[in-house]
Amino acid sequence: MYPIKCRIDEYQEQWYYPTNHPKPRQILSFRMPGKNKTQAQCPCGTGSTYPECCGRYLEQEEVPEHAEALMRSRYTAYTLNCEDYLLATWHSDTRPAALNLTDGPQHKWLGLIIKKHEQSAPDQAVVEFVARYKIGGKAHRLHEISRFVLEEERWFYVDGDII
Ligand SMILES: [Zn+2]
Repeated sequence: MYPIKCRIDEYQEQWYYPTNHPKPRQILSFRMPGKNKTQAQCPCGTGSTYPECCGRYLEQEEVPEHAEALMRSRYTAYTLNCEDYLLATWHSDTRPAALNLTDGPQHKWLGLIIKKHEQSAPDQAVVEFVARYKIGGKAHRLHEISRFVLEEERWFYVDGDII
């Protein structure tokens, strides 16, 4: 469902190659803290391995079951510069034409903390989170309340307020 064409370039020490990826150009790969892909923890910080956590959504075409899972998978997509996934999960009313994540100074994502997940209606939810990252060695902190909607059994990111 999601057209995944990730370009990963800043992660180099250990590489993870999904077995079902069709073309080398589309390889989704990044530095994993574990010794192999089954031990490596997901960048979103659940403590689960990447294949059991956000990898299911980024690579296996599974659909996040709630807004928090989508939020986590979108954070992971940012850590992987996986722009296609971010656009595919962005609501069409607010989706930018492109993110150009690989242009300009690169974010080094350090971690995600979910502070709150509230579903205010069957098809509406908000997720409050803090994401930490560095650009050029300088640390930054993004604290945002994001809005999500459910349409045709899929959650989409709509927009957010930076706190
Ligand atoms: Zn994850």
